[in-house]
Amino acid sequence: MTDSLMATYKRLPVCFERGEGAWLWDNNGKRYLDALSGIAVCGLGHAHPTVAQAISQQAETLIHTSNLYEIKQQSSLGDRLTRLAKMDRVFFSNSGAEANEAAIKIARLYGHSKGIETPAIIVMENSFHGRTMATLSATGNRKVQAGFEPLVQGFIRVPFNDIESLKTAAQTNNNIVAILVEPIQGEGGVVIPAADYLNQIRELCDQKEWLMMLDEVQTGMGRTGQMFAHQHNNIVPDVMTLAKALGNGVPIGACLAKGIAAEILVPGTHGSTFGGNPLACAAASAVIDTLEKDHLTERAAALGKRLLNEFHERLEQHEGVKEIRGCGLMIAIELDRPCGDLVGAALMLGKLLINVTADNVVRLLPPLVLTDEQADELVATLSGIIKTFLQKSSSNKT
Ligand SMILES: *Cc1c(COP(=O)(O)O)cnc(C)c1O
Repeated sequence: MTDSLMATYKRLPVCFERGEGAWLWDNNGKRYLDALSGIAVCGLGHAHPTVAQAISQQAETLIHTSNLYEIKQQSSLGDRLTRLAKMDRVFFSNSGAEANEAAIKIARLYGHSKGIETPAIIVMENSFHGRTMATLSATGNRKVQAGFEPLVQGFIRVPFNDIESLKTAAQTNNNIVAILVEPIQGEGGVVIPAADYLNQIRELCDQKEWLMMLDEVQTGMGRTGQMFAHQHNNIVPDVMTLAKALGNGVPIGACLAKGIAAEILVPGTHGSTFGGNPLACAAASAVIDTLEKDHLTERAAALGKRLLNEFHERLEQHEGVKEIRGCGLMIAIELDRPCGDLVGAALMLGKLLINVTADNVVRLLPPLVLTDEQADELVATLSGIIKTFLQKSSSNKT
């Protein structure tokens, strides 16, 4: 469309003009069903009136001051988030990568405070933590790292969902200070670990005095059917990062911490010009208000079950479908072949927004406000498109 933008994204040839709930309209007036929510960002759907009103009221009053001064909206959002997450303190950033940067800096300061000169953080294969230098170094995907060497040092990589290799790493390294892990790997293909994986990590971290750091940038804010995904396990991490759905589209991230980890950052060690400004915090407070008032976390759990059941019924026996899995409204249909073409097909033929990640995994992240009728439409449209795709691509194979 224009050459003035750096070519960081291969964009689909559609431009949306307005939205309402799970609906989007393009600039030709055509209506689409959004089963991606701007990659798990617009959990409350588009143009949510409560969020829109909070933003416009705040914009008319005060958008930004500075973290050199007290910010009432930031303090009250901090109180609510720490209470919800059973954490002690929070640092506000503008994105997921920045929230993870804060977590990584906390882990390193924690290590140095224990006399460890080259502190190391255990990270997972197949993980995604962001695109800044430290977070891409923590990320377990060579495609994200290639060309950006030298990478940031101090990360030890182990397979995801494998407690034994964590224990082996513990035996062979004496400089480990933390584990950074996603409760469910999102970009990695909606990889759901064993039910007690996080509990075992909690136990190991307690035993070794490591910080358990959860990247809930994608899984947080009700997406999985709990406010935070680790609440399925009845544990509390030492550090948790949030972003994506926290502001329903207004950029805001958060790094929450508990106990000793909450006391590590002091004046001069970290900061952000924009982080936690009145506008972003007003939006995030409106998001939490709405999640609570409309019981959207419970809704995500119920809708997730319904969608999984229906996809199982329609696609499970189909040749080419490897696995259908999900947790709340984080849903994956894994195929036995690369299926990136499905994104364009769903958009053009089905007027449906979906995503494909890890090459062969159809990923659905619909808004938590999806109606039952929209859920049925999603299942019917997508099942048809996947079946057609599988038939065509198997006849092409030979
Ligand atoms: C999206 C994502 C990030 C990066 O967030 P940005 O806001 O794009 O920097 C980090 N971790 C996880 C798990 C994510 O899904």
